[in-house]
Amino acid sequence: MTTTIDYDQFYIDGGWQAPASNGSIPVHSASTEERVGSVPEGTERDIDLAVAAARRAFDDPDGWSRWSPARRAEALERFAAALEARGAETARRVSVQNGMPIWLANQFEAGFPPLLLRYYSGLVAESGLEEIRPGILGGRSLVIREPVGVVGAVVPWNVPQAISFLKIAPALASGSTVVIKPAPETVLDAFLVGEAALEAGLPPGVLNIVPGGREVGAYLVSHPGVDKVSFTGSTAAGRAIAETCGRLLRPVTLELGGKSAAIVLDDADLAANIQSFFASTLLNNGQICWLGTRILAPQRRYQEVVDTITGLASSLAVGDPLDPATQLGPLVSSRQRERVESYIAKGESEGARLTTGGKRPKDLDRGWYVEPTVFADVDNKQTIAQEEIFGPVLAVIPYSSEEEAVAIANDTDYGLGGSVWTADPERGTALARKVQSGTIGINAYVNDPTAPFGGIKSSGIGRELGPEGLHAFQVLKTIYLDASSS
Ligand code: NAD
Repeated sequence: MTTTIDYDQFYIDGGWQAPASNGSIPVHSASTEERVGSVPEGTERDIDLAVAAARRAFDDPDGWSRWSPARRAEALERFAAALEARGAETARRVSVQNGMPIWLANQFEAGFPPLLLRYYSGLVAESGLEEIRPGILGGRSLVIREPVGVVGAVVPWNVPQAISFLKIAPALASGSTVVIKPAPETVLDAFLVGEAALEAGLPPGVLNIVPGGREVGAYLVSHPGVDKVSFTGSTAAGRAIAETCGRLLRPVTLELGGKSAAIVLDDADLAANIQSFFASTLLNNGQICWLGTRILAPQRRYQEVVDTITGLASSLAVGDPLDPATQLGPLVSSRQRERVESYIAKGESEGARLTTGGKRPKDLDRGWYVEPTVFADVDNKQTIAQEEIFGPVLAVIPYSSEEEAVAIANDTDYGLGGSVWTADPERGTALARKVQSGTIGINAYVNDPTAPFGGIKSSGIGRELGPEGLHAFQVLKTIYLDASSS
């Protein structure tokens, strides 16, 4: 970016509103470390205004929540088109801010939001919101799916747009209204969403965007005007939010951290699947929650697997995320790089064998880069096999039988993603059934919008995507009809 992008208002109540305070959030380029823009810093007062606007929009007897699904779908189609018109700039802003390679930002950050808006509008229209169930006690029940109300959404910086729309798309399609708090590291992209909502003519208050830090996030989560919380982020923050929601008896969806296993079986042709393996283990510079960062390798072919993964990591094009040839960009911040480097030091001090990487790239003297790094001979009890690193660091762990591979895969606090690599998809599926995880792929890892995504254990509560991701923003009401009303 040659000029900086600076905003001085928030998208609240269907328009641009002045912030309540003078605070501002500076935004930096992950690859040049330069300041590339700023936005106002949200405060409790801004959240109050945003929640009040969302509440009015939801409670309006002729408003969004009472519109037919078809009418909401028309508005969401305009919103999708307005986002598409800004897709290239959205991808560019995300890439600059968090280091996501531009080809990936085009797919995830430009591509996913309109796709999700259309998928969920269609799903609400097709699936219907009411059903009559014949009873077994003489009467019938009318079962209605109503919108949950005002949604407080808090999102992280790693895939900011796609993750935001995992919440915004089903929530708005359901008839709910939303206040979303983006992470301070990635805010410039969020303002394009406000512009698109304005252009699409979303009714005032249906969507409100207030960037800020964790205190503002915590304030939103506990706000008396919020009916449902949807959070994506670290397990530590998720626990704090779950405590708040537990106390308030407020429904909450939590998408948290992971330490997933990529299980390589002894019949796998890893070299033939290397692109898919890369996408499942090192995508977005290692900054994705579901990546398979523990590679379980069979003793029989251990050295070959270590060599293949080492070759993959050492051959990746590391550099400017805006260069379409770049496969691995910088980390989001110097703080994140320090965190990743401290895990690399821990891996070495605990006795794992570094086969490639481990340092900052020599030819890149600016930007928060870390070389793609592979540790072999890792014991699953070691810190780098147990804790989420959130950077381009893989741990290869040997196993001697399939039972042992499953035991290692399950010996973790987390349960979010994972993959099995094999020439025999049936064998892979049988093994995948034994892995304790919310999602897992055979020779690939993909979150298809039609299928539920989410974790078990410390990876979270609830599901996004699929019909389940819509149900998270609906409440059920049963009206019992006695036999005389048939
Ligand atoms: P983080 O938890 O520190 O921050 C995430 C968001 O929550 C930010 O907007 C932050 O301001 C806010 N926040 C932090 N503490 C809060 C609190 N107590 N109350 C309310 N809001 C709070 O996480 P991060 O470092 O920004 O993101 C990385 C983490 O997110 C990783 O652990 C990663 O695995 C996880 N993640 C999970 C998924 C998933 O779908 N499971 C997806 C992406 C990222």
